[in-house]
Amino acid sequence: KKTIHWFRQDLRVADNPAWVSACESGAVFPVYIHDTENGRDEQLGAASEWWLHHSLESLNKSLGGALNIYAGDSAEIIHQLVRKYDISGVTWNGCYEPWRVELDRAVTDLLEKEGIEVAVFNGSLLWAPEEVSKQDGTPYKVFTPFFKRGCLGAMPPRRPLPEPKGRYGRDPESVELKELDLLPKQGWDAAFYDHWKPGETGAFQRLESFLALGLKGYKEGRDFPARKNVSRLSPHLHFGEISPNQIWYAVRNRTADDDVGHFCSELGWREFSNHLLFHFPYITKRNLNPKFDVFPWDPDEKKLQAWQQGKTGIPIVDAGMRELWQTGYMHNRVRMVAASFLVKNLLIHWKEGERWFRDTLVDADLANNTASWQWVAGSGADAAPYFRIFNAVTQGRKFDSDGAYIRSYIPEISRLPDKYLFSPWEAPENILREAGVVMGSDYPLPIADLKKSRADALAAYATIKEGG
Ligand code: FAD
Repeated sequence: KKTIHWFRQDLRVADNPAWVSACESGAVFPVYIHDTENGRDEQLGAASEWWLHHSLESLNKSLGGALNIYAGDSAEIIHQLVRKYDISGVTWNGCYEPWRVELDRAVTDLLEKEGIEVAVFNGSLLWAPEEVSKQDGTPYKVFTPFFKRGCLGAMPPRRPLPEPKGRYGRDPESVELKELDLLPKQGWDAAFYDHWKPGETGAFQRLESFLALGLKGYKEGRDFPARKNVSRLSPHLHFGEISPNQIWYAVRNRTADDDVGHFCSELGWREFSNHLLFHFPYITKRNLNPKFDVFPWDPDEKKLQAWQQGKTGIPIVDAGMRELWQTGYMHNRVRMVAASFLVKNLLIHWKEGERWFRDTLVDADLANNTASWQWVAGSGADAAPYFRIFNAVTQGRKFDSDGAYIRSYIPEISRLPDKYLFSPWEAPENILREAGVVMGSDYPLPIADLKKSRADALAAYATIKEGG
């Protein structure tokens, strides 16, 4: 019996339920298809493509070079392979991006019509979104009951599975990884190699280092961008190089304290984003709360560019945007502040921010990115009340109090004393001179007045508030 396992966002061999099933059934063709025909609106950004290249390289290595790689239309390629090799079954793990859900349906129909067995598993979430709903059968829109009642209250997550032994089928017509052309032509990725090791081995090293150095103190420390408390597992999770189940049990096998509980609830937010995307697939394009459809956004190309380039003149925002550009990652606290600055202080549509993040984050994830942007904008599920508008200066002072994070990304103002580091435009001339900073030339003057823009945001919100 011959089976195809279709790798997608599950680029690992351990704890991979669909892969286990394929390996157990006889000879298995490990297949990865870079789909160039479907889901074009939601294609991977350049940073994610960099990651994908290295992740596939690593997976291929784990399989002893047996990964069959293709580019094109997934349905067509699978169909051809099935005929060519007399395949009797195809396995995959479910994905929840709307275009993939549609594609899976089409592939299933095509295969079942030909009598090919299709076996789909849940390999990327702790709780499959099809299985979580309120008592009345409707989906959750509030995190705490979703996680406490819908997930934890229903059943514990599945325990991780061991790596299976496989007998691999190889298609000589599959292409070389480099033919997918995923790596950038310009050298913007040079620093990425210092920060990341894509692939299953890299994911486990990251988990081990988080367990040893980050988990203790996570609950408090996760808010401070210069501390080493967060796991940075997000890109590994996005590409499925490690499963949330492996992380869940590795963490819980240690201790059961507040840090562990808090970390697990962050994994819960990932579940929640996927739950939302599965039940409300339109959220990638439209507001979850339709009241925001008439929000008076203020598209301003120049301000958007200043934000993208980390030149807004607000140090904590700029530090975050530069971290993103240089490393493909931004700390969660700073993501919230930078996003809030874009949508509330600049009144630029969250879709613009979402698009930029999708292109530049190595962990760009349609579910987490969309849900988080809508959450910050106030149009999403369980969003904070609109009037709670972050003050980026106060946020900087509070969460980067010694300025270590800002100084590491904005060297041109690093000699300013802490008192003015968070709002350099307030520094007197002599202090600027001593620190060697010419405002407006070495470092930009702020593109928004935080107080005035806050009032403008509240006024803009007042125009839509009556809607419900
Ligand atoms: P840790 O604190 O170590 O958390 C562990 C894991 O829990 C993360 O890897 C992630 O999978 C999950 N998680 C943590 N926080 C959240 C959250 N708020 N929402 C959903 N899942 C979470 N996350 C992405 O994975 N991809 C994105 O494209 C993305 N875009 C975002 C955009 C904005 C505007 C904001 C505010 C947040 C976004 N997040 C996104 C959520 C969060 O910032 C990242 O998941 C987190 O910073 C990843 O770092 P970590 O792995 O060190 O997190």
